[in-house]
Amino acid sequence: MDTRDYKDSDVTLGAPVLGQLGRQPDWLQSDESPYCPSCGRAMDFAVQLEDDRETTGHPLFGSGCAYVFTCVRCAEAVFLSQC
Ligand SMILES: [Zn+2]
Repeated sequence: MDTRDYKDSDVTLGAPVLGQLGRQPDWLQSDESPYCPSCGRAMDFAVQLEDDRETTGHPLFGSGCAYVFTCVRCAEAVFLSQC
């Protein structure tokens, strides 16, 4: 997966989950950008998923956000969450 292939826009995945593809992560806490566990390089930000608690009333990520980073060279991905 190459984040440069995605359109730089906000995305709504149905009503309950919101987020963004590409751009920069909007960290709820401190920056936790990971390094690839295989090659050690900084990983590319791919997607951020956010809860829409007003619509669903069901927090999916502990009332926080989930972040996915990838390393295309090594076919590695990392999933993080903050709340
Ligand atoms: Zn790597």
